[in-house]
This record gives sequence, C-alpha cells and structure tokens, in this order.
Amino acid sequence: MANILIVDDSRTSRKMLRSMLEEAGHVVVAEGVNGEDGYQKFKEVNPDLVTLDITMPVLDGLESLQMIKQYNGEAKVIMITAAGQKEKMIQAIKCGAAEFIVKPYDNEEVKLTIQKVLAF
Ligand SMILES: [Mg+2]
Repeated sequence: MANILIVDDSRTSRKMLRSMLEEAGHVVVAEGVNGEDGYQKFKEVNPDLVTLDITMPVLDGLESLQMIKQYNGEAKVIMITAAGQKEKMIQAIKCGAAEFIVKPYDNEEVKLTIQKVLAF
C-alpha cells in the first residue's frame, strides 16, 4: 500500500487511474491538474509515489519532474506517456524518472509497474 499523487490534466485519465490504484489497495492522497500544480501538491503531501503525465499545460511533465527531483532527489516518479513520445521518455529517464506507463491504461501493467517502483 502506498500514498500516491496523480498528476494529469485530463480529468477522465485521473479518474481511471485513481480507480485502478484504489482497487489495488493504494491511497490517492492528492491530484494535480498540471505540472505546476503537481509540484505544489508534491510538496504539500509528500507522497510515496507520483504518476506524472508528460503532456500538460503550464508546466509539462518533464519540467515538473525536474522540479520534483530537485526538491527531493529520492522522489519516485512514474511518467505517463502516450505512443510516439520516445524522445520525451529518454529525457525523462535522464531526469530521474523511475518508470513509464503508456496510455491507454492496462490494469495489470499499472499494478505491476507501481509494485516494481515501490520495491526499489
Ligand atoms: Mg495530458
């Protein structure tokens, strides 16, 4: 069980991910609606794990990732990507992302990826 922060500009996407995570026994402690909001929420709730969408307004996932890692180098961040974002995925790895989940969500993949990252 982990306290998780979901950061995604899509309400539908947040809702889907929340129900999968809760079904797996995790607690969604907060949601962020863009990269800046996600960074602020991270500082407020200090979650065990963050899911961070790449394409978002204000600050995108990569910018938000860099700020979160600068604030806490130990932060566990899973990037949420869509197909065709290979270049951004490579950049995210360089910036310290722990793992990736590709949209559309696959329930098993989400569960396994979260378990893997929590076990680090
Ligand atoms: Mg998005």
